[in-house]
Amino acid sequence: MKKHNFSAGPSVLPEFTIKNTADAVLNFAGSGLSLMEVSHRGKDFEAVISQAASMFKELLDIPAGYEVIFLGGGASLQFCMVPYNIMNKKAAYLNTGTWASKALKEAKLFGETVEVASSKDENFCYIPKNYTVPADVDYFHITTNNTIFGTEIRKDLDCNVPLVADMSSDIFSRPVDISKYALIYGGAQKNLAPAGVTFVVVKTDILGKVNRAIPTMLDYRTHIAEGSMFNTPPVVPVFAALQTLIWLKNQGGVVEMEKRNIRKADMLYSEIDRNKLFKGTVKNTEDRSLMNICFVMNDEYKELEKEFSDFASAKGMVGLKGHRSVGGFRASTYNALPEESVKALVDAMKEFEKAH
Ligand SMILES: *Cc1c(COP(=O)(O)O)cnc(C)c1O
Repeated sequence: MKKHNFSAGPSVLPEFTIKNTADAVLNFAGSGLSLMEVSHRGKDFEAVISQAASMFKELLDIPAGYEVIFLGGGASLQFCMVPYNIMNKKAAYLNTGTWASKALKEAKLFGETVEVASSKDENFCYIPKNYTVPADVDYFHITTNNTIFGTEIRKDLDCNVPLVADMSSDIFSRPVDISKYALIYGGAQKNLAPAGVTFVVVKTDILGKVNRAIPTMLDYRTHIAEGSMFNTPPVVPVFAALQTLIWLKNQGGVVEMEKRNIRKADMLYSEIDRNKLFKGTVKNTEDRSLMNICFVMNDEYKELEKEFSDFASAKGMVGLKGHRSVGGFRASTYNALPEESVKALVDAMKEFEKAH
């Protein structure tokens, strides 16, 4: 039985991506060689990586003046690479969760940081509003989707300083007004590809303004100049990312993804709110993530958690366990998760409620 994969990351990928990547691992572009065996400098792979960058631009409608690069090191390496490249003296951070806190921690190594607001006081169950970003910072960093806590900033913020966003877990889930951002980054393993590749979308005119020396591999300009081929790129994940981008385009792009994601999230949040056994963990409905839907047993049904978990597993659902810092359940409903999987979860919740 094909599982319903609600994992937070690595996570569900389109059949199309998995099948085409598996085929290429066996025989890449009719070469008689595996994708894992060919030179990244060969013309077939060069076509893959340049097409991935151009489709990335096309699907997100990225304006002129920006570059898309593919790197290693995960989103976590970007926590230091961002300040290394663009923080001269001071940067502002919005602290909305574990990943945002980790990003802030690294930035402290490079200069003065301002935590403009934090929702740590309530275990990150909401997105702070009404904060002020100081005008003298080099950039303002946000995490658009808080994978662990299930909150999301779905509106592109207007900002008086360069805006930097970790979009690891909501890239391609909706149309984004790229012109409002100076830099966007993310690990690919949530909504795009297997682990191993990181994407960076950067407005090139923000680079080259810091007074420190930057090691070659950590300098965005190195990778821009070399078309992400300064060193050996993660060949298989890049190939898989391209397959997902082709799939995305065939499905109708980010406009269609957003429609589906809203439908899936509405279906599940409605059931969480209706069902007497469960409750959501995010305080304000407008902060609820469309990608990671967190819920727990209602207080009087706490002891049923393990039973529901086993019940869902028996119906072929995997990856529903909430992160240890929230507990309960987390259903990740990334682009590739079919609506049938959400329907199956909702049906299981209803059935479980009837039995209790
Ligand atoms: C998963 C995740 C990360 C960490 O990604 P790695 O690629 O494992 O370093 C960072 N930020 C967010 C929002 C994430 O969801």
